[in-house]
This record gives sequence, structure tokens and C-alpha cells, in this order.
Amino acid sequence: MDLQGLKYLVVGSGFFGAVIAERIANDLGERVLVVDKRSHVGGNSYSEVDPESGVEYHKYGSHIFHTKNQLVWEYCNRFCTFNNYRHKVLTNYMGRIYQMPINLSTINGFYGTSLNPDQSRQFIAEEISRETFAAPANLEEKAVSQIGRPLYNAFIKGYTAKQWETDPRLLPADIINRLPVRFDYNADYFNDPWQGIPTDGYGALFRMLLKHPRIEIQLNTDFSEIRSHIPTDCLIIYSGQIDQFFNYQHGILGWRTLRLENDVVQTGDFQGTSVMNYSDESVPFTRIHEFRHYHKERIYPRDKTFICREYSKTWHQGDEAYYPINTNADNVVYNRYVAAAARYKNIIFGGRLGSYSYMDMDQVIGHALRTYEDSIKKS
Ligand SMILES: Cc1cc2nc3c(=O)[nH]c(=O)nc-3n(C[C@H](O)[C@H](O)[C@H](O)COP(=O)(O)OP(=O)(O)OC[C@H]3O[C@@H](n4cnc5c(N)ncnc54)[C@H](O)[C@@H]3O)c2cc1C
Repeated sequence: MDLQGLKYLVVGSGFFGAVIAERIANDLGERVLVVDKRSHVGGNSYSEVDPESGVEYHKYGSHIFHTKNQLVWEYCNRFCTFNNYRHKVLTNYMGRIYQMPINLSTINGFYGTSLNPDQSRQFIAEEISRETFAAPANLEEKAVSQIGRPLYNAFIKGYTAKQWETDPRLLPADIINRLPVRFDYNADYFNDPWQGIPTDGYGALFRMLLKHPRIEIQLNTDFSEIRSHIPTDCLIIYSGQIDQFFNYQHGILGWRTLRLENDVVQTGDFQGTSVMNYSDESVPFTRIHEFRHYHKERIYPRDKTFICREYSKTWHQGDEAYYPINTNADNVVYNRYVAAAARYKNIIFGGRLGSYSYMDMDQVIGHALRTYEDSIKKS
């Protein structure tokens, strides 16, 4: 690959890299090279059609687009249309199905009651008052102080223990904020005004974002392979792991990873919904995704469906990094990398791996658009 004269290099073709590359090509009118170590563009948001079932599946777990940010929504709509999917989540606890987040249907179903909104508020307040914690010392105490012990035991305890492979009593209280409890029958998972799934899938959206004669894409290429050939005046937009970039010299940042077990099942509908959580600790996976439900507008086979069982795992170097753990120790290490990064005037770190923070897709797109305007266009 000839990097002679290259002025812009984007490392990583997830939303952060793809949006910046699109802006450089379309708005700045400059040539840009995008490299990705994977065999496809799109990062963790990527989707493709499974050849056996014909179902479009999200390769790195369910991705639902939702945003309050009008600028981001309008930007995305230049490259794709969205269907009218509205996300709802169910939880299987001890073989019975409940709505998530906890709402009036969950409360009445779980307690075998038929409370109205006012009665259910009163009822949950009484449940909470059975145990008081002046200052919750761990995740369990915080959750119990918000929803009471019975709902915590059913819906939070086992799920959290599986997600973190740790007893919730040993997890810090600040892992959770406010546990949402709704005293009505609203089952929508997100409240954002704009929601949906790209009608042609995320893979197609990324192909549209990156479709420009000034954008060159080099897949199956790790940054380390080309690092020594990059011209010194080239601006690098780096959305890989920041600690890896510095060869882990200040320490290794902690992540959680996932094991995703895909399966084609010989039925037209496996679970009747896109995501079913399993909150019992005795069930080893945390949830099952069934991707056909993301595209009601498509005609899918009636005798096959594509599902994915999701298991949460401790991350080790070499695994896919999914969720930053962000312990205090991690944040100390991250700040050392931020200081080291500040010394590189020709490199911009960003995206979830480059800034060691969990961000939804719309937040990453907003972050990329701002980075382009403030740090690339003006430079
Ligand atoms: C399980 C899961 C579910 C999620 N669900 C949702 C959801 O429902 N809705 C939502 O809005 N958001 C969701 N997200 C968040 C979403 O995945 C992120 O917002 C988005 O992927 C971030 O884009 P990014 O470009 O920062 O990173 P990524 O998508 O991770 O892209 C980074 C890219 O950089 C490449 N790369 C890394 N290192 C190198 C290197 N050294 N050399 C070359 N290439 C490299 C990687 O291969 C990758 O393609 C979810 C995240 C997870 C983990």
C-alpha cells in the first residue's frame, strides 16, 4: 500500500471512523484512507445477512438506533432510511415472562396483584421501606433501596451476577444509577423521539457512508502493520484501543467481553420478540437475540430463524473489548494515556476504544461530527 502523500488516515471503520472519513471526503474534499483490522467495515454496529436463514443479524449483538439528537438523526437519514422498530425487552425469570424495565405489568405479574398506578407506587414504597441503608455500600444495597428486595432478587441479582461474574454485594454501588421503575404499562425500552433499525441493515449504511471516490478502504489491516510507513505530516484519526496504541506502557485498561453463540433454529419464530433476558443465575446466558424481529417489513422464511445466545465474560488481552469497566484504577491509567496522547499533535483519539468510554451509536456519531468540525476542519 502506497502511503506517500497521504494527509488523512482513519484507523477503525466503526461509526467514529466512518463518519469522520465521510466528512473528510465530502466536506473537506480530501483523500482519506480507512484501515480496519477486521474483514468488514462498521465496527461493532455491523450487520449482515446470514446465508443459511436469510436473516439480517447484528454480528456483535443487538444494535438499536435511538437518539434525541436531531443533527445526528438528520445526518444518518442522508445515508439510509430507518424502519419503525420500537424496542421492547422481556425477561424470563423462573420460566415466567415479564416486561423490562420493571413496569406496572411486571409488578402486577410478579406479585399476582392488579394494582393501579397510585396503589403500585404505594406498594413499592412499602417494599423499599422494609430495608433501609443510610449509604448503600454495594450494588445490591443500592438496588434494594430503589426497588425492594423481592424485585431485586428476581430481576437484578442473577442478571447482574452473570453480567459481571461477581456477586452484586462485591460490586460498587455506582455501577448502577437509578433503576427505572414505571408505574404504568409503558413497555418501550427507549424514550427517544427518533428510533429504528436501518431498513437495509447497518452493513448497507456503512457502505453508503464510505462510498466516495476519495475514500480508500483497506480491510484486514492492523494499524501496527502500517505504522512505520505513515508520512509524518499525515493526520491520524485513531479509534482503536488507546492503551494498545501505546503498547500498554501505562497499564492495561479493563473491559468486559461477550461470547456470542449463533444458531439457526428450524422454526419461523423462536421467542416472539427480539430480546429475551434470562435473569435466573442458573441459566448461563444473559439473553437471547432473535434478529428477524428487527425487520418486520422484510419477508423472512417461515421455517428458519437466526438466534444468538449472549454470555458475559471476563476480558483478556486479545478478546474483543465490549464494555469499559471504568474502575477508579482504570481511570487513573486512562488519564495517563490521555496525557501521553496530548504529546502527539498529529493523532486524534476517539470512539469508544480510543476514549475508553461506553457510548451509544448516536453519541459516537455526535462525537465524530464535533471532532471533525472542531479539530479537523479548522486545523
Ligand atoms: C453488545 C453491545 C450492544 C450495543 N447495543 C447498542 C444499541 O442497541 N444501540 C446503540 O446506540 N449502541 C449500542 N452499542 C454501542 C455501539 O456498539 C457503539 O456506540 C459503536 O460501536 C461505537 O463505534 P466506534 O467507532 O467508537 O467503535 P467500534 O464500532 O468498536 O469500531 C472500532 C473499529 O476499530 C477497529 N480497530 C480497532 N483497533 C484497530 C487497529 N489496531 N487497527 C485497525 N483497526 C482497528 C475495529 O476492528 C473496529 O472495526 C452496543 C455496544 C455493545 C458492546
